[in-house]
Amino acid sequence: METVVMKFGGTSVATPEKIIGVAERAISEKEKGNRVVIVVSAMGKTTDTLQALADEITANPSKREMDMLLATGEQVTISLLAMAFKTLGHEALSFTGWQAGIETESVPRNARIEHIHTERLEQALSEGFFCVVAGFQGVDRAGNITTLGRGGSDTTAVALAAALNARKCDIYTDVDGVYTSDPRYVNGARKLEQISYDEMLELANLGAGVLHPRAVEFAKNNNVPLSVRASYSDEAGTIIQEVVTVEKNLIVRGVAFEPGIARVTVTYKKPFNGSLANIFTKLAEHHIDVDIIVQSITNDFPPSVSFSIKQDHMDEVKRVLDTYQSDIGFVSTDFEVGLSKVSIVGSGMVSNPGVAAQMFDILRRQDIPVKMVSTSEIKVSVVVPENDMHKSANALHEEYGLE
Ligand code: ASP
Ligand code: MG
Repeated sequence: METVVMKFGGTSVATPEKIIGVAERAISEKEKGNRVVIVVSAMGKTTDTLQALADEITANPSKREMDMLLATGEQVTISLLAMAFKTLGHEALSFTGWQAGIETESVPRNARIEHIHTERLEQALSEGFFCVVAGFQGVDRAGNITTLGRGGSDTTAVALAAALNARKCDIYTDVDGVYTSDPRYVNGARKLEQISYDEMLELANLGAGVLHPRAVEFAKNNNVPLSVRASYSDEAGTIIQEVVTVEKNLIVRGVAFEPGIARVTVTYKKPFNGSLANIFTKLAEHHIDVDIIVQSITNDFPPSVSFSIKQDHMDEVKRVLDTYQSDIGFVSTDFEVGLSKVSIVGSGMVSNPGVAAQMFDILRRQDIPVKMVSTSEIKVSVVVPENDMHKSANALHEEYGLE
């Protein structure tokens, strides 16, 4: 018998009726002759509500206790879903992350899965149980509960699919697939039938919220057949796999955007005889993700480095820079907020020079100032004012013929 992993996100388990619907859907998967593992998120906005409770106690909660708190959300869903199976006449067992053998590194709030001890799940599956597993959580070697970062239930599902050698991992969600861009803000955005792991990884990292980036990374590294589909319909969703047949000969396959970006500029004394490693090592030690980095060392101006971060991390960045100013050896800092990142993604870019130039031209015609740029083989990202974010995305989506 083959194993199938099904994952349902918060909106898909938001009410008791929806939870019963999830059980029914899993039962029909089992009736096709599969062993079924179901990974679930916390119900509806539970995780946000728990976060808000902590915010009322303290502005700076212990990360360990945040993991303890947030992990309770998924535990509610697994118990209710297991009960739903019983009501429908089927045997099911619920498992927290640690009961499911999910071992993670010791990084609170953003842990990576290191190993899954699958014995217990294998046993339950072989005895014919539906296995209902709490997403987003695990345990570190020291026995502390950890969580995998917001949206991390996707990663639980894919990691389990890899560990259990599942035939496929289906992510059921409140949209019916992966789109060329966010249809709520971009005219003519449409569903993709297929997308490659690499393109999906870029899109997920660039703010397409539909999948947790680490889930895509895991799927790619372990060749897990992954799909994103609607929990409310039977329609086929988007398949994410290694090689895709491109529908049209499109260089750009998706446009992603992300608000809430800040640019930090750090200026050094002249002549610059330090090392950029100092600043980025300190930020990394504090688990701050730095995105685009632009360095400028010329003869005429004081040396400086600019980098982009999530606006939410700004206070932490300020704290780190203040604390280590003398170690890092800079003179002044400048913070610019109210920015966003807009990106185009497509595997076809590798063999097509001039994509970035064309992108800048499109933005210039719309009078949109480009503040920072970064490129990879299959994407170009620009930092633009947040006010121009949707306008930029629409212009790029149209010009690249994605409609
Ligand atoms: N409940 C967690 C969150 O809201 C994890 C998840 O849903 O994937 O981020
Ligand atoms: Mg999600």
